[in-house]
Amino acid sequence: MAALEVDDRGLLVTCASCGQKNRLAHERLEQATRCGRCKNLLSPPAAPLEAATSADFDRLVGHTSLPVVVDYWAPWCGPCRMVGPELEKVAVNMAGRLLVVKVNTDVLTDLGQRFGIRSIPTMAVFAGGKEIARTTGARPASEIEAFVRQALAKQPAAQ
Ligand SMILES: [Zn+2]
Repeated sequence: MAALEVDDRGLLVTCASCGQKNRLAHERLEQATRCGRCKNLLSPPAAPLEAATSADFDRLVGHTSLPVVVDYWAPWCGPCRMVGPELEKVAVNMAGRLLVVKVNTDVLTDLGQRFGIRSIPTMAVFAGGKEIARTTGARPASEIEAFVRQALAKQPAAQ
């Protein structure tokens, strides 16, 4: 799991080659980008991103060109701990096509309230800034990916 670093213009990623921070523009996140310093190819995130604030969540989910699966979780929740490694796999398998964002509902209580999260884990798919599907309960990576694909298939505008 990595920290979500985001601003109004894009997602901030660290170049694996030289350590330089680069911004991947929200509207072109699915395109290949090169590091501004060393020209190494930068990849979209292949790990779940933990949102630190609800403002960061909104900056990302409201603007990114990629669909997002949001995992509402809390550290004390046993099934959430089972979902964690599965979402790591999803983030790798669907890197460049999907972002995985984690929301700790103990910390970001306002997001839990805004989206009416009553049980965790809850996973929700966002496309174009809007929630398009939601499911609750732990499941393996293959089922999470199927859930995401089904949700996006129903969206004529997405993908
Ligand atoms: Zn670099």
